[in-house]
Amino acid sequence: MQDGVDRRDFVRTVGLGTIAAAVGAGMSSSGLAAEQAAGAGQAEAAALGAASGGRYVLPPLPYAYDALEPFLGRETLTLHHDKHHQSYVDGLNATLDKLAAARQAGDFGAVKGLCRDLAFHGSGHVLHTLYWQSMKPGGAALQGELAAAVAQDFGSSEAFLKQFVSATVAVEASGWSMLTYEPLGGKLLILQAEKHQNLTIWGVAPLLVCDVWEHAYYLNYQNRRPDYVNGFMGVANWDFAAARYRSARGHA
Ligand code: FE
Repeated sequence: MQDGVDRRDFVRTVGLGTIAAAVGAGMSSSGLAAEQAAGAGQAEAAALGAASGGRYVLPPLPYAYDALEPFLGRETLTLHHDKHHQSYVDGLNATLDKLAAARQAGDFGAVKGLCRDLAFHGSGHVLHTLYWQSMKPGGAALQGELAAAVAQDFGSSEAFLKQFVSATVAVEASGWSMLTYEPLGGKLLILQAEKHQNLTIWGVAPLLVCDVWEHAYYLNYQNRRPDYVNGFMGVANWDFAAARYRSARGHA
């Protein structure tokens, strides 16, 4: 296990695997800022909230607060962006601070709750950042290679729209729907996220994965999960993880 993974590296991993790759927004670190500047231009990177210090930041709304009227009013967008989204950003930074303090103290007694907080605030930040960019005053037509992929994977754009609307309306209570790209099968999929805090940050790129379902270790370790996990760390393939890290950062 590499001990030298500091918070900036972690934050960059999270950010680059998520919104940075998708929209280049909502995350501040000097390294990310430099990469954004290379890809998107210095001014654009700054406008998307890139700064120094390794902190997540609230990206500005990419249009005026009343630009989506009458679909969504100024008050709705102002509250949603300035209050709700900001609270996710604040919660995410606060959670990272608490995790840093836990590492400093060598006390991980609260790590379970902190992982939940990280997923809740992290996914909230990522998904809201994508949500703002998923809308545009006047809209934009589905065309080009994405339109072709939609036709191939859903049969037709009409069938896709019906499925997307149906899936979105059917989300139970609070949640999200999203058109996604699943890279293993190379397919477009429509997914629901009923509880975005369910221990993931949407869009992260997994680098190293440990299965702790009992079927993975019970024959060898029975209820001794810590022994299994320690053994896993002894066979961890950091070459694979490093390759995925390079790929996630766009340096494959
Ligand atoms: Fe929201």
